[in-house]
Amino acid sequence: MYKHPLLNRDQISPKEALDILIEGNHRFVNNYMSHKDLLALVQLTKDKQHPFASILSCSDSRAPVEMIFDQALGDIFSVRLAGNIASDKAIGSLEFSTKYLGSKILVVLGHTGCGAVKAACDNFREGHIGEIVNFIRPAVRAEKTELVDRTSKNEVFLEKVGEINVRKQIEEIIRRSDIIQELLESKQIGIAGGVYDLATGEVRFFEELLMF
Ligand SMILES: [Zn+2]
Repeated sequence: MYKHPLLNRDQISPKEALDILIEGNHRFVNNYMSHKDLLALVQLTKDKQHPFASILSCSDSRAPVEMIFDQALGDIFSVRLAGNIASDKAIGSLEFSTKYLGSKILVVLGHTGCGAVKAACDNFREGHIGEIVNFIRPAVRAEKTELVDRTSKNEVFLEKVGEINVRKQIEEIIRRSDIIQELLESKQIGIAGGVYDLATGEVRFFEELLMF
C-alpha cells in the first residue's frame, strides 16, 4: 500500500527506505499501483520537501522513477542524466538531497537497452555526446569477458557494461564526495545500485552493491 512518508521520515532507516522502493516496484510490475491524490500532495508538500530516496538514473523516457517505484510528489529526489553518470553536478545534487533534505537511500539505477551505454560501447562522440561517453568508457574497458563483438550490437556485452557502469558510478560518487562518505560511514544513508528492465518493468537491485 502506498503511504506518503512525509511524516516520520526521519525515523525510517536506509534499509526501510530501500524496501519502500522495492515494494513500490512490485506494485508497478503487478499493475497494482496505489491511488494517490496528487493535488492533495501538492498542498501537503508546498512548504517543504523531505524525499526519502535520492536516485541517479537515466533520462530515458521509458524509465521515470516515480512511476516505476509507484511513488508520488515529494517522495524521490530525482537526478536524471543519460547513462546515469555521476558528473560533478549530479554528485552535488545528491549531496544536497542526502545532507540537507534528509534522503535515507541513494540509488544509482541503470536500465537495459540504454542508449548512452550503447554510445559508449561504440565510442560514439558526436556533439556533446562524447562528454557523456567519457563517463561510461571505464565500464566498457572493465568488461573483460566478451571477446568477439565488443559493440552495442552484442546484447550480452551491452548489458554487462550497463551493470558495471552502475557499480562504477557508485564508486565515483563515494570516491569524490566527502559529504556522502560521511553520511554513509555514520549510517545516516545507505547506497544501492540496480537495473531497470525495460521489457518487464522490474528493478533488480544488486546484492553486492548494497551498503547500509
Ligand atoms: Zn539510458
